[in-house]
Amino acid sequence: MSVTEKALVLKVGRFREADVWVKLLTASRGIFNAFAFGGSRSRRRFVGCLDPLSHVLFTIGESRRSDYIVLEEGSLLYNYPTIRQNPIKTGIAVNCIKFVEAVEVGPFDGKETYSLLLETMKMLDSSDGALDFIPWLFRAKFTFEMGFLPDFLHCGCCGSFVCTKKGFQFGIEKGQVACPTCLSGGKPLDGLARPISTGTLRALDWIQQSSPADWISVGMDSKVRRQVSQLVELFVAYHLGLSWENGMYKKV
Ligand SMILES: [Zn+2]
Repeated sequence: MSVTEKALVLKVGRFREADVWVKLLTASRGIFNAFAFGGSRSRRRFVGCLDPLSHVLFTIGESRRSDYIVLEEGSLLYNYPTIRQNPIKTGIAVNCIKFVEAVEVGPFDGKETYSLLLETMKMLDSSDGALDFIPWLFRAKFTFEMGFLPDFLHCGCCGSFVCTKKGFQFGIEKGQVACPTCLSGGKPLDGLARPISTGTLRALDWIQQSSPADWISVGMDSKVRRQVSQLVELFVAYHLGLSWENGMYKKV
């Protein structure tokens, strides 16, 4: 039986003469591969649909033996023209896509991933502000969406609110803040911990509450930005088992 579903096309490849394989992301299935037979010839069934970064309403079916997924036809919803025309924006979109591919998003995480990636693409398509921090904001937000939700504004030991004092630390493994009073009282954090400023804690809390549309207006001083991005990478590496090396994500 065929169903129609909206999908973001992540990758496309040719095989045999006229056939196309497609890597897709949908809310109900996560990331998966499908085949579009005759896709490179059939202008009518797949007009503008079989390109990476296309948002498409596909009719999705199965092969006769149900052993692979077949795209029957598609209608293009949107193709993010300014992302395609701008190499910096294209690079950022590809970086976010490589990340969700490396995480191996399945049906269980499909809904959150699909909406976060689409919102990010929409923001990228319309933004003309600074974009260099989008990839790690995306990684941070993705990790939070997967259910790793540290409380950045309270000490995990005594519950006190994060104030302007110095000497806070953040434990990567439990995602827990420790205040200077608890630390000097001999309650160190387990495992990997890093000193963290209250400005950085507030910035991380903001990222957790934000949606991609808010990222255009983000303003962070360079010290906070550096500390936030380093912590995000440690947190992502620990909780999702990934790190960014030489242009690709690797399982760590
Ligand atoms: Zn405390």
